[in-house]
Amino acid sequence: MILCEEPLSRHSSIRTGGPGQVVALVESTEELLSVLESVREGTLPSPVRFIGNASNILFPDGGLPGTIVSLKKMDLFDIRPDGLIEAQAGAFLPRLAFHAARKGMGGLGFLSGIPGTVGGGVVMNAGTTTGEMADVLREVCLVSPNGSMFRIDREELLFSYRTSEFQREELSGKPSKWHDCVIVSAVLETFPSDPAHLLGEWERLRRLRSETQPLEKPNLGSVFRNPPGEFAGRLIEEAGWKGAVRGAIEISRRHANFFVNLGGGLSRDFRSLVEDVRLAILQKNGFRLETEVEIVPEETPAAV
Ligand SMILES: Cc1cc2nc3c(=O)[nH]c(=O)nc-3n(C[C@H](O)[C@H](O)[C@H](O)COP(=O)(O)OP(=O)(O)OC[C@H]3O[C@@H](n4cnc5c(N)ncnc54)[C@H](O)[C@@H]3O)c2cc1C
Repeated sequence: MILCEEPLSRHSSIRTGGPGQVVALVESTEELLSVLESVREGTLPSPVRFIGNASNILFPDGGLPGTIVSLKKMDLFDIRPDGLIEAQAGAFLPRLAFHAARKGMGGLGFLSGIPGTVGGGVVMNAGTTTGEMADVLREVCLVSPNGSMFRIDREELLFSYRTSEFQREELSGKPSKWHDCVIVSAVLETFPSDPAHLLGEWERLRRLRSETQPLEKPNLGSVFRNPPGEFAGRLIEEAGWKGAVRGAIEISRRHANFFVNLGGGLSRDFRSLVEDVRLAILQKNGFRLETEVEIVPEETPAAV
């Protein structure tokens, strides 16, 4: 499905962001290849960006030019008898973890409360204190901008804390080896375990999250990466920023590393809180917090 001037707020888990020039919701690899071909031919606008559930991206209030390809409808997965799971990039991580648990396939419980897709999870090396994507990924299938498809092993993705080779440019300024490629599927490894135990664990982790995180309001999960040996949320709380509100964005009273949209919030208020919190922690604790959330800069002034 091709949508023009589509509000990106409809596709973001924090519900902010202006219009995307074109949003393509692809349902298969064939549709994805056809969208990429249209961009090469100039019938769809450049540049191309890929998103999953947009649970880790802050879109600009002024919107984005080009074609934003959402893979969240490519959400099939195949649970194989050999313990491997082949999942399309748009497969929703909690659903994948639930079905694996039901089949007695262990190792994916940490994904139970991460509201992203397999593709976004690989790019971000999504995880918790009990596991991360790098622990369970065997290989991914990529498509390059010219439409060629190839597989790469986990080792080539150079995973580290909440990041991978896909993000190298954003973090270090040097172009990533897989720059402009899109993940179309991934193979995950599991181990045999008792389904009742796995389902119990899946439920326990989900309940724990709903008690500690402000899941009833739109948000993007943890805003900042935890600095070594510290918790960003604790530092923000100690610095007195818990509950601060700018426009309709609030630093959650339940978890200070979550910024929530109280209704009609703007990305610029989110960004401004990020800068102020960063400065406060720099002055108080002497180090600069890095965002875990991917903040896409404004390209055109927002009409607000
Ligand atoms: C309530 C809540 C709780 C959260 N808890 C956690 C947590 O415990 N641990 C954690 O790690 N994260 C957490 N997150 C953040 C987020 O859910 C994860 O980072 C998730 O993996 C992002 O997946 P996504 O599909 O939403 O990716 P998106 O936000 O859509 O994209 C993230 C990045 O991946 C790229 N991308 C997405 N799909 C593809 C693809 N197919 N090919 C190439 N590039 C792609 C995008 O361009 C972007 O750079 C949480 C978020 C929320 C809202």
